[in-house]
Amino acid sequence: QEKDYQFMLRTRNPGGFIPHQLYLALEQLSEEYGNHTLRVTTRQGYQIHGILKKNLKTVIKTIVQNMGSTLGACGDLNRNVMAPPAPYKNRLDYQYAWEYADKIADLLAPQSGAYYEIWLDGEKAITGEEAPEVKAARQKNLNGSTFEQSPEPIYGTQYMPRKFKCSVTVPGDNSIDVYTHDLSLVVITNKKGELQGFNVLAGGGLGRTHRKEETFARSADEIGFVKKDDVFDLVKAVVATQRDYGDRTNRRHARMKYLINDWGVEKFKTQLEKYFGKKLEPFKKLAKWKYEDYLGWHQQGDGKLFLGISVENGRVKNDGKFQLKTALKEVITKYELPTRLTANHNIILYEIDRQWQEDINQIFRSNGVELDPENINHLTRYSMACPALPTCGLATTESERILPSIVDRIDTLLAKLGMAEETFVIRMTGCPNGCARPYMAELGFVGSAPNVYQIWLGGCPNQTRLARTYQEKLNIAELEQFLEPLFVYFRDSKKKNETFGDFCNRVGFDALREYAQTYQPS
Ligand code: SF4
Repeated sequence: QEKDYQFMLRTRNPGGFIPHQLYLALEQLSEEYGNHTLRVTTRQGYQIHGILKKNLKTVIKTIVQNMGSTLGACGDLNRNVMAPPAPYKNRLDYQYAWEYADKIADLLAPQSGAYYEIWLDGEKAITGEEAPEVKAARQKNLNGSTFEQSPEPIYGTQYMPRKFKCSVTVPGDNSIDVYTHDLSLVVITNKKGELQGFNVLAGGGLGRTHRKEETFARSADEIGFVKKDDVFDLVKAVVATQRDYGDRTNRRHARMKYLINDWGVEKFKTQLEKYFGKKLEPFKKLAKWKYEDYLGWHQQGDGKLFLGISVENGRVKNDGKFQLKTALKEVITKYELPTRLTANHNIILYEIDRQWQEDINQIFRSNGVELDPENINHLTRYSMACPALPTCGLATTESERILPSIVDRIDTLLAKLGMAEETFVIRMTGCPNGCARPYMAELGFVGSAPNVYQIWLGGCPNQTRLARTYQEKLNIAELEQFLEPLFVYFRDSKKKNETFGDFCNRVGFDALREYAQTYQPS
């Protein structure tokens, strides 16, 4: 008899958009077939853990019948396309970001009917029809790029050398870690708010392997600007360049970041422009990036409201008096609210009439869920953890389950040092794959063995600078001993308004180590 194999399932939701009926279906599926929780991912999707093999078909079919999909949420192809989650209705740039996130997700979706044959007995999806211009763009010949006439005009028979990640955002909004994707597009509008085109960044990616120096986290480069009518050709040309020249002999060297790193930006651009058939225009100047988490109540710009809810480590669950899952189900059922998932594994409910606000506050309050961002622990608010043990087969140590206790210990240490008000970005993963993007954090923990983490320092609050490895191995039992000298040095030597990550980056790791070596606890 076959073993009871368990699976993790991940949804595909461009821009993190979850219609209310899909949320309710996922909620029900996690109760019936999963481990009674839902996990918001750091790519704006949901994961359900613990599905038995015999139930997979029912679960996937139910998701597709409720306007969802799992197609391309994993594998060597384009993954979930990210976009800022703030549902502003009076900002055209945000509308463009969502529109193009959807269209790029459609453009790069595999065309094979196998998914529907296997999981839906050949029934077609009932999600929205793709735009005709997307269909046309998929079939259009690019200069010298093959496969246009094949059933998979973009992927051919071999798909991509490795996963491929895209995002679309607006100038200034770095809620989606814009430098960490293979390809990021930034909406550029004119003074009237009309779409002109997109700035293009490429070659970001965070996954690496411990003790393999040839693998590394990399921040994306500025590549150029593309006019809106050419954007699908440009996306195809980037994908085709990686498809044809990415390393297919070594999976550890297969992401597009290695191609760009090995070639240099100029050579990459030259090949890209051959497929694209045109020169890219110069990258447009952008506003300074800001990280926004959109927690709490906000105006969405058309008289309605949206509500950002902090979800610690992305885990939607009920636990004692904390009944987040129950509260979300009640509110979403009652008011049929759509949601958007954030890249910091939080949830935004929107399309909320003002007269519903008090009732919604009451529902969350009575279920023990804090809605006021000021009352959420400020370290927890900006922290992220990947699932790791017990649900991820690649994990070498704990992440999601241990981070709350780590944050408590850091909080206690900061209070002891008279630094209770300090806030910085803490991210943790159970292996160097980096799903919670620890390499952009101000304090990053990357699991390397049971209870042992590599420590990364020097990222910044708006996630525009890569952190660097400060210490290869820290046994988590020695956390306070390790952090205290660094925090004291920071407390006593920081510039006005300087954050911990900026301080570590400014003074440099040699100075940090020197200080730590001579530090005498008071
Ligand atoms: Fe990702 Fe590694 Fe965490 Fe698993 S343990 S979720 S692969 S970072």
